Amino acid sequence: MIMEMATYIQPELPYASDALAPAISKETIEFHYGKHEKAYIDNLNKLIKGTEFEDMALEDIIKTAEGPLFNNASQAWNHIFYFFTFSPDGGGEPSGHLKKAIEEQFGSFDNFKNEFEKAGVGIFGSGWVWLSKDNEGKLFITQSSNAGNPLRDGLTPLLTFDVWEHAYYLDYQNRRADALHKLWDIVDWNVVESRY
Ligand code: MN
Repeated sequence: MIMEMATYIQPELPYASDALAPAISKETIEFHYGKHEKAYIDNLNKLIKGTEFEDMALEDIIKTAEGPLFNNASQAWNHIFYFFTFSPDGGGEPSGHLKKAIEEQFGSFDNFKNEFEKAGVGIFGSGWVWLSKDNEGKLFITQSSNAGNPLRDGLTPLLTFDVWEHAYYLDYQNRRADALHKLWDIVDWNVVESRY
């Protein structure tokens, strides 16, 4: 995220608001990124103002803060991470080292996708499903509730799907599994690989 004068600024998305349809509609982008994510950033800015967190890197706030500051900082970060993973030219499969690691640890790319979706569907209530790596490059699929973030567990996030109802309800109503399944069509694996 862009930071100027100790204030976080919401970056413009690198695609038009209707570019990810039908996986994510224009309306969902406008509410989810334009309103929900903006509110997390606005709250983060209010909460750090005049405190010891004002000059701290956002990742360090996420690793150390508790309560409303953690919630808003992590949600601000998670949504940027989520929306900047997608592209209208996305889909397909990873290549190179990441593809090899996924196949070694999950058997196949299809099996990885199934396990990732199952973990996302299995989260009770709001949260996020993650693919992360540890310092040795070992991959992990993890679930987090609410604003949870694998950075808190010393992992490096590579990919996340938002399972809060606000992420899919306008387009899919209660069909979370369908919503997650469609996201594979827009994942930009170049971005995910660059994080690996
Ligand atoms: Mn969200």
